[in-house]
Parts: sequence; structure tokens; C-alpha cells
Amino acid sequence: MPNKRVVIIMGPPGSGKGTQAELLAEKLNLFYFETSKIIESQVTNARANESVQISGQRYWLKDERTKWQSGILNSPPLVSFWVKNRIIELAKEGRNLILAGSPRTLIEAKEIMPLLEKLYSLNNIKIVLLGISAKESIWRNSHRRICQLMRHPVLYSSQGAKLKTCLLDGSKLIRRKGLDDPKTIVVRLKEYRERTMPIIAYLKEQGIKVKKINGSPAPAIVFKNILKALK
Ligand SMILES: [Zn+2]
Repeated sequence: MPNKRVVIIMGPPGSGKGTQAELLAEKLNLFYFETSKIIESQVTNARANESVQISGQRYWLKDERTKWQSGILNSPPLVSFWVKNRIIELAKEGRNLILAGSPRTLIEAKEIMPLLEKLYSLNNIKIVLLGISAKESIWRNSHRRICQLMRHPVLYSSQGAKLKTCLLDGSKLIRRKGLDDPKTIVVRLKEYRERTMPIIAYLKEQGIKVKKINGSPAPAIVFKNILKALK
């Protein structure tokens, strides 16, 4: 079966990328490729003194863990290396993909986009850019909880706030330690503005269409608008 589709969801922290990616994965039968999970598992499971060498440069995973915990983006060549390997595997399996959180730097975009074009062809790549204000991003992130078992996100609402366990699997709801602290979120937002936003101009130069969607409404409405934009 030929590979036919890649959807990439971009947007600042707290814009609902993960939630929309999960909904779209289900609806459009896409494999949800979550970069933050790859990075999290690599840096938290790293052995002491573990490193990866890429084009003569060595990356120490303990340094990457420090960056990750403080909200600074991980070294682009290393992230690209992990992400590209995974994309190649998934393309071989004939999967159609939804990416949330990649590419997150221009360097990564220049590595990943040509690979995706080769494997899926330009016409089949769609980019959705979710927009929310900085204020909303900080508020949403500082109220976010996820479940311990599957890391399902729980959106903040008066009903959601009363929940103690995940409705899907019954595991405990927790805060993401460090990553969602207000101080860390400010760093993440700055990183997004300075290092991720420049990707949009690059994508347009490459002839890849970027659909802008307002990320402020309720997830169901945002989802409907994304589906419309992808048609
Ligand atoms: Zn769960």
C-alpha cells in the first residue's frame, strides 16, 4: 500500500496539538507520532554517561535531559536523528502519519521535510498551525494534567478539575513535573517564538500549504475546523 498522507500539527505549548492529533489519528486512521514522547523516553531512560554521535558531534543525554527539564529545545541534530529514524520505520510499515511537535526548529525542518517529501510526496503533506495567545498558553499549561499510565491529557474544565483518575484507563491524574511550571512555560514560549515560528516561512518557500486555525475554542470546534481545512 502506498503512503498517502502526513498531517503536521504546529502551535505553541498548550495550543491543543496533542488533543487534536489524537482526535485526527482516530478519525483519519493516522499513526500519531509524538516527538515529545520520543525525547522524553530517550532522556529519562538514558544511562549515566550515555551519548550519541552524529556527523562527528557528540551529544550527551544528561545535558539533553537538563535542557528538556528547563524548557529549552533539545539539540536539533539529535532530535532530527531520532525523528527521522522513526519516520523511516513507520513509512516502511505503510503508515500514514500525524506529527505533533515536529519539526520544532528550522534545522529539524530542513532535515525532516525533504525526507517526508521523498516518502509521502509534497502534495500529501498538510500543515495545521494552531494559534492561541501567550496568556492563554501559560494558563492552559499551568492547569494541565495527564494520566500516569498512558499520559492522556485532561483538559481543564469545572468537571475535569474534580476528576482524580483517567476516564479511559483509571490511572492517577498527575501534573507534568517541571515542564508545565509557569517559569518553564515562559521559556518554552520564547523558544517557540524564536526557534519554531521561523519554520513557517521556510515551509511556504517549499510550496507546502500551512492552514491557520484558531486554537482558542473548545476542542470539538477546533477539530471540526481542522477537518474542514484538510478537505
Ligand atoms: Zn489515561
